[in-house]
Amino acid sequence: MISAAVPGQFPPDEGVEVAFAGRSNAGKSSAINAITQRNALARTSKTPGRTQLLNFFELEPARRIVDLPGYGYADVPDAERRKWAPLIGALQGRQSLRGLFLIVDSRRGVSQADADLMDWAGERAVHVLLAKADKLNRREGAEALRNAADLLGERATVQLFSAHGKMGVDQAQHRLIEWFTHKL
Ligand code: GDP
Repeated sequence: MISAAVPGQFPPDEGVEVAFAGRSNAGKSSAINAITQRNALARTSKTPGRTQLLNFFELEPARRIVDLPGYGYADVPDAERRKWAPLIGALQGRQSLRGLFLIVDSRRGVSQADADLMDWAGERAVHVLLAKADKLNRREGAEALRNAADLLGERATVQLFSAHGKMGVDQAQHRLIEWFTHKL
């Protein structure tokens, strides 16, 4: 739909919106592409110069996903930070924003920056994808899932996910559809 640089460019606040966020390199773009089964989608967000924009994609009428810029790079210039704060602030206030997919590298686990984003989401539902789970063996995967579930408690649901190994894609799609179809 649009790569928004300022809140005035956001689509009308109607229908249902689901945000995708995560630390840079966590596997967010790959997750979006696997879940939506539309390979070209998240490539847009990787176009140089567009990385600090909010990318809105309409999957069906009045059903959108919003791709947030990856975070976690300490060296983001102040000028970029100043542009991004009002965007994320405006997104937070949207009544159409239903839920948040938080993409976490399964080998790193949930970070403070991830926890901050859950705070940003307020009362909204959060679903954590422990991404690149194909890099873990069965025991490590179970351990990563247990650690994350312990840390998140009631605040979020969590699952193992791999865009490459196609692990947990159905489960994640189910969550998205649930948010898209649940009565307002
Ligand atoms: P983003 O920066 O969070 O959008 O992450 P990307 O989706 O661009 O992925 C970052 C890197 O991790 C790329 O080199 C991907 O190929 C790799 N990657 C993404 N998903 C997976 C996965 O499920 N398994 C493995 N092994 N690597 C992945």
